[in-house]
Amino acid sequence: MSIQIFGLPVSRGVAIGRAVLVASSRVDVPHVFIDTSLIEEEVARLLAARDVVAVEFDTLKRDLPADAPAELAALLDVHQMLLQDEALIGAAADWIRQRHYNAEWAVSAQLEVLARQFDEMEDAYIRERKADLEQVVERLLRSLSRGVPSPVPDASRSGGRDFGGDEPLVLVASDIAPADMLSFKRSVFTGFVTDVGGKTSHTAIVARSMDIPAVVGARQASSLIRQDDTIIIDGDAGLVIVDPSPIVLEEYRFRQRQSELERSRLARLRHTPAVTLDGERIELLANIEMPEDSPVALEAGAVGVGLFRSEFLFMGRADNLPDEEEQYDAYRRAVEAMKGLPVVIRTVDIGADKPLEGLSSSELRHESVLNPALGLRAIRWSLAEPSMFRRQLRALFRAAHHGPVKILIPMLASQREIRQTLDNIAHVKRQLAESGKPYGEVELGAMIEVPAAALTLPVFLRYFDYVSIGTNDLIQYTLAIDRADEAVAHLYDPWHPAVLQLLHSTITQARAAGKGVSVCGEMAGDPAFTELLLAMGLRSFSMHPSQIASVKQRVLRADTRRLAPLVGAVLQSEEPEATCAELFHVGAAAHTQPAQLRA
Ligand code: PEP
Ligand code: MG
Repeated sequence: MSIQIFGLPVSRGVAIGRAVLVASSRVDVPHVFIDTSLIEEEVARLLAARDVVAVEFDTLKRDLPADAPAELAALLDVHQMLLQDEALIGAAADWIRQRHYNAEWAVSAQLEVLARQFDEMEDAYIRERKADLEQVVERLLRSLSRGVPSPVPDASRSGGRDFGGDEPLVLVASDIAPADMLSFKRSVFTGFVTDVGGKTSHTAIVARSMDIPAVVGARQASSLIRQDDTIIIDGDAGLVIVDPSPIVLEEYRFRQRQSELERSRLARLRHTPAVTLDGERIELLANIEMPEDSPVALEAGAVGVGLFRSEFLFMGRADNLPDEEEQYDAYRRAVEAMKGLPVVIRTVDIGADKPLEGLSSSELRHESVLNPALGLRAIRWSLAEPSMFRRQLRALFRAAHHGPVKILIPMLASQREIRQTLDNIAHVKRQLAESGKPYGEVELGAMIEVPAAALTLPVFLRYFDYVSIGTNDLIQYTLAIDRADEAVAHLYDPWHPAVLQLLHSTITQARAAGKGVSVCGEMAGDPAFTELLLAMGLRSFSMHPSQIASVKQRVLRADTRRLAPLVGAVLQSEEPEATCAELFHVGAAAHTQPAQLRA
């Protein structure tokens, strides 16, 4: 029977496919398809990994100290039994043969199936054996990752599938860590659903950057959806439909075709300059997570990178954080790929929902457990780890030798932090000058994402060359709403008058001081806000490359001379969203549509 699950729409479009359930901790397991000719080799890989683990268990049992409790030996027997059970290995081999999953994927898929069966057991003792099964699978996965990798020449391309089942796959998980989302960029999934997360949680942000339909905060999704269910993800409405009826399926297939048409229509605007009807040139920049995203930014028509979230270089790295050379190389690659266009690189914004999992060195000491969003994150974290911070700054200045780099400091709130930051920068420049290593000059910017910064903007304008407004956090901290918590997601409101006032005053003051100002939070990429931000005087927007075309479409139709005088009415309104719709959009489209869009 068809069921509907509601969540938060975070990435537009419709995905229809077969559900692949993955436990949160296993999302970063490689998910690749195996060529038909290599299937038996992959099964052999699985069996070899099983044999390695079997020997590990034998050795562990043999080496048990004489006085070890008898339960330990019994437990190892249980693990050995689970490992040899056909319900695990035999069924995983079936996944490989029938679905062409690689061994890691096959084992984790089968674990999901068995884990459910355990959950449904009446007997508490048997139910608890699920944890044992999970431990066995962890060992198997570790053994696979140590051994020869899958014999897949073109692992990440789903297009390489050469078997009958070419139905797209969508991923269903309780949660996906931002770091794991990166491995996702290379994965085979065409959409995803998670139980937790808010609209501007970092998982949602990465989903948007991948431009695949996604619904987060769907609460029970991962327990209601079963492996292989056919599901529809409506990324516009935040709806997941499980086992849709044929008529609903057809309706959504139609919508899918429509949105593909719309995308290709918008793609034509790629290289059209973003200029309003009254001739104002608007800068549309890209938000990226990795240097490899730069070509996508250029392809989408971005005129630079407005936010390179450098923390993604640090995440999912266990204990080996990138050193100065590795960072320098990454920043230089981004700069060179942008071919002379400016690249704004933000210093690490670690913490809150972007922790450095698994790090055992001194850095982890700082992890804020109580209230991560209000804890030691972003610049606070960097200032608490000056050697790390300086390493990053050195790499940034050196990358600036290869093209225009602008450094951006996240989450500053006070003058003291500003001074400490500037001291570190001065120190690094002295070091570089003494070392004789080539480096370039950079513009220095502050993110305005804490209300305290917005309310004391003149201080920031005195010390920095430009400011960039991080609306995701500015909303979170202004409204006291955790942006990653789906329980309060309905209260996370970019239209709140307090947010709009802070935005307006920041833009106005920065412009009056002759300093650059941009918005790099999600509001910049949401076409619903384009006219309002233009009316407030914003001329620089940074967003995911996939959003550039839709925002550009709004820019091309806008007349800032008409919009600017209306901003007061929106700011005074108790319902700014409705006021905006009424003032900005009525009658605007038809007669002002530029030639490129009428085609
Ligand atoms: C923001 O807070 O708006 C922002 C752009 O930074 P992040 O989303 O990475 O916190
Ligand atoms: Mg932020």
